[in-house]
Amino acid sequence: MELEISSLSKTYANGVRALDDVSLTIPRGMYGLLGPNGAGKSTLMRTIATLQDADQGSVRLGELDVLTQKEGVRALLGYLPQDFGVYPKISAYDMLDHLALLKGLGQGRKAQVEAMLERVNLYEHRKKALASFSGGMRQRFGIAQALIGNPQLVIVDEPTAGLDPGERNRFYNLLSEVGEHVILILSTHIVQDVMELCTNMAIINRGRVLFAGRPEDGTRAIEGRIWRKSITKAEMAAHEAQYRVISTKLIGGRPLIHIYQEEAPGDGFIASAPDLEDVFFSKIAGLA
Ligand code: ADP
Repeated sequence: MELEISSLSKTYANGVRALDDVSLTIPRGMYGLLGPNGAGKSTLMRTIATLQDADQGSVRLGELDVLTQKEGVRALLGYLPQDFGVYPKISAYDMLDHLALLKGLGQGRKAQVEAMLERVNLYEHRKKALASFSGGMRQRFGIAQALIGNPQLVIVDEPTAGLDPGERNRFYNLLSEVGEHVILILSTHIVQDVMELCTNMAIINRGRVLFAGRPEDGTRAIEGRIWRKSITKAEMAAHEAQYRVISTKLIGGRPLIHIYQEEAPGDGFIASAPDLEDVFFSKIAGLA
């Protein structure tokens, strides 16, 4: 089964064109949807999750027309929204059991709820109130509610925001386990999320798809065009004026700049093997 998005467009009442002729084919596995804030990721995720309508285009999940056969899609869907933020005083177990009931799980529900709590490492905390959970525990609960009922399409929208590095690693491991068996779309503005997890990806900005493919196809396409140089802060402005600086990182307090250019710049620059950040920033800057 694949998710096939064709020429999808959406303009909000205030005139913002959040999706502009988006076409993507999303196979089974972990798929990264990468874009800066405001790119249109949530709009796309919510449309695929049948929570809002598009103006034009189509979305198909296998045989299902996602935009019209909403009930059929919902039966196959697990969704962790960006603002999954209601943390009631009831226990993790009771909440997950309630959500499982809403998803239509009947017989064997207790066993499935317990197995899911085990899987996301919350079994020992099952009797605690969700309101008392840490950020990482909340996100793991969020993925548990998305996964209960064996969905074939799982959508997680900016799931690593606010997690500390240890929590983020545990969450990554959990996602990559799940992602082997279903279509899992991970929407994020964090390049590292996609780099570590996804076999296929797209970069979107201002509602448009700037790149779709495997991360290594993206890096290969800009090979030989990324150059780096360590400079002083005082040299920054002159370099920005002269070169197409795509990113700046401070290393030990000193700016390390990456520029995009086809021919060797000289001037102390050295060739840099492109990584996914270089792909992302050069696409966003409209260079590659
Ligand atoms: P992302 O998830 O990538 O941050 P969104 O899909 O949330 O992007 O937003 C895309 C654009 O649409 C942004 O410019 C945002 O301000 C705008 N937008 C999102 N939701 C609405 C809405 N309900 N009404 C009007 N504009 C919206």
